[in-house]
Amino acid sequence: MIIHENFDVNEKGHLTIGDADAVELAEKFGTPAYILDENTIRKNCRTYLRAATEYFGADALPLYASKALCFTGIYKIAAEEGLGVDCVSGGEIFTAKKAGFPAEKIYFHGNNKTNRDIKDALDAGVGTFVVDNEDELEALSAEAVRRGITQRILLRITPGIDPHTHRAVVTGNVDSKFGSAIVTGQAMEIVKKALSADGIRLAGLHCHIGSQIFDIDPFSDAASIMVKFIAEIKEKCGYEIDELNLGGGLGVRYTEYDREIDYAEAIKDIAAVVTDFCKEHRIKMPKIILEPGRSLVAAAGATLYTVGSVKEIPGFKNYISVDGGMPDNPRYALYQSQYTALIANRADAPRGYRATVAGRCCESGDLLGENMEIQKAERGDILAVLVTGAYNYSMASNYNRIPRPPIIMIKDGEPRIAVRRETYEDLTANDVI
Ligand SMILES: *Cc1c(COP(=O)(O)O)cnc(C)c1O
Repeated sequence: MIIHENFDVNEKGHLTIGDADAVELAEKFGTPAYILDENTIRKNCRTYLRAATEYFGADALPLYASKALCFTGIYKIAAEEGLGVDCVSGGEIFTAKKAGFPAEKIYFHGNNKTNRDIKDALDAGVGTFVVDNEDELEALSAEAVRRGITQRILLRITPGIDPHTHRAVVTGNVDSKFGSAIVTGQAMEIVKKALSADGIRLAGLHCHIGSQIFDIDPFSDAASIMVKFIAEIKEKCGYEIDELNLGGGLGVRYTEYDREIDYAEAIKDIAAVVTDFCKEHRIKMPKIILEPGRSLVAAAGATLYTVGSVKEIPGFKNYISVDGGMPDNPRYALYQSQYTALIANRADAPRGYRATVAGRCCESGDLLGENMEIQKAERGDILAVLVTGAYNYSMASNYNRIPRPPIIMIKDGEPRIAVRRETYEDLTANDVI
């Protein structure tokens, strides 16, 4: 096992991903390529569903936050595993529907849904809007009235929590672009507006404090603040909230220096706090929704590259350049996210070499990691970056006119193409003049 149990080394000394030989995958499908172990994703879905229903009650539901990794196949898995999904754009909703995902189990997020988004989502029959602000509430109410329907909504609330993660992925603090804050009084205001708005049925509240969080305390704190707020709503408005969505954000182990989180244990701990607080504030336990993205899919993925130039700058650093980079994985460039890299064709050799792994773009910041612990590499080696299942393909671009890699899904050790490699023709398909 390397970092996660779906990564291992076989008798040839090759990296295996979900029991498939990474070197053979690279030969068969080319590089760069995203590899995704389906069994790991399904196992994670089941862990969440089982723990949520066991500790929060039979009606609890995990949603897959599909911005983490979005293509039709992933929505089919979410549907088969009995999860709902969280979508943040018309494009995600379209992809979910195309995959046959039941629209009533879609939650539609976003801090700036356009009028077009609102119409498209209503046309699609999206079950629940997570309304971010008063402007959106008014626009949605007007459109619902025009259609003669009543739309189920949650309100996005900012509980004012700093979860001690990267600044760019914090979302639950008061000055966030997301939601309405409790401390400023805006949260109570929007609740009152939602309760009296035409064409709207307020089902509950949502909060999401951030991402890649390893500590349970910020979740428990957020949950307790939300429960207190639900009690306040009951007292002031005489209205008992049915549903509380606690968001996603549980962390994932990317390197040996990260802890491994037992997600079932984490859910159990959060549930204990929520149960206590509901009793203390004399409200019924709402239906609990969880919204994991990263923790369902990240560990299932790895990206395979071919090593090109290897450069040693004496007294400075070593560079290993690969045939991908920030277009397929922008996370180091964006957040200095740490990854584990290894040479897949010598995966059993000790990682005693230090190198900066660079991409192929004309951009000094195009790096997959600096000072990474890896094996010494040479041109033609297969370099694997592990734990790339989340926020890689979904954040990929065509910068430098580089086609996006394919997604190869492994099921019980057998590979199949889930998303084909983009071609140069795909790159020019929208160019009109
Ligand atoms: C991104 C996001 C999630 C998922 O976060 P992870 O860290 O990937 O679990 C859940 N809910 C909302 C509203 C989000 O924006």
